[in-house]
Amino acid sequence: MKAPFQSRRDFIKTATIAAASLPFAGVLTSCAQNAAPGRKIGFALAGLGSLSTYQIAPALQKTKFCRLTGIITGHPDKAERWKAQYDIPDKNIYNYDNMEKMADNPDIDAVYVVTPNGLHADHAIKAAKAGKHVLCEKPMEVSVEKCQQMIDACKAAGRLLAIGYRLHFEPTNLECVRLVREKVFGDLKVINAGFGFRMGDPTQWRLKRALAGGGPLMDVGIYALQATRYLTGEEPVLVSGVETKTDPVKFSEVEESLAWQMKFPSGVIANCSTTYNAEGLDYYAAYADNGWFQLHPAYNYDGNRGNRSDGQVIQFPDIDQFAAEMDDFAQCILENRPTKVPGEEGLRDVKIMMAIYEAAKTGKTVELS
Ligand code: NAD
Repeated sequence: MKAPFQSRRDFIKTATIAAASLPFAGVLTSCAQNAAPGRKIGFALAGLGSLSTYQIAPALQKTKFCRLTGIITGHPDKAERWKAQYDIPDKNIYNYDNMEKMADNPDIDAVYVVTPNGLHADHAIKAAKAGKHVLCEKPMEVSVEKCQQMIDACKAAGRLLAIGYRLHFEPTNLECVRLVREKVFGDLKVINAGFGFRMGDPTQWRLKRALAGGGPLMDVGIYALQATRYLTGEEPVLVSGVETKTDPVKFSEVEESLAWQMKFPSGVIANCSTTYNAEGLDYYAAYADNGWFQLHPAYNYDGNRGNRSDGQVIQFPDIDQFAAEMDDFAQCILENRPTKVPGEEGLRDVKIMMAIYEAAKTGKTVELS
């Protein structure tokens, strides 16, 4: 099998995205000039919840170009624990109301926003105004307007904005992109994709519209949407959708399950689904002129694997996707180059997800420009 990093070049219209991010190239020059050999990008994590605790902080210890230098939290008790565990000095500990003071702190180059979706813009904009680069978790925000505000703020501050799309750095997904780009099975025609799980705690923010922006589509369906976009390298032009609810009490504010279809300019059709009420939905299957390939699981932190119609298996050694994503972000800053996962990429997903919600609500197909 081909080395995974060769296929990175092919991933998701790199050229288009790079072009979209080029405005950063000039403004990042001063950072690149500051790049002393061996310099590492100092990260402050905003939001010390599950993802920061169990994935991002451990991943930071494995990076080559990053170091954990600060935290932003509303919980003083958590600050004490993190301070002890990661040797973070008091002067690098902030809360959501004093983030602007980071402007005077050279230990912190970048803020990784890992708070609930509906707070991303607030925290990202505060970080940008303090002169920090911003890596923001998916989904970028809960509305197109807030995504645009984040892009504008980072642009005005001359700072890089990237979205935490970890699968853009993951070998099995990159291999599937290569299969399409190199037309190993001919032209792609149909994609089936889905991601969902059974939601436990009924009190969490993921079920609150204001903080989550929506249900499983915003949380995990976005991975299936992303897969259709990076596999095709195209933007959907038509979407339709259907929503269903079997537990209207638990899912009073957000959708429980949603299925949607998309048409791409080349004629590819995608059938996608997402749910907060079933286990095991974690796959995509792509059908082309002369064969097919599939990943199942497709979107996990590790263990993604699949197979092909010619009998070959798609499998690579696991990597730490968060470490790869953060190292790439740091290298973009240090080397003054654009990211392949810019804010514009996050905005496109949010725009499409809003169209999917509209289609499901109205029962009408929605055209995307
Ligand atoms: P979480 O609930 O475990 O953590 C959220 C953190 O935000 C907590 O520390 C909480 O204290 C803090 N917070 C600040 N203000 C808050 C408020 N008003 N209400 C609630 N919490 C508040 O959530 P998580 O699973 O760590 O998710 C955080 C972000 O990361 C989300 O945007 C999510 O979509 C994203 N995420 C991405 C991945 C991935 O694979 N890339 C995986 C999980 C989560």
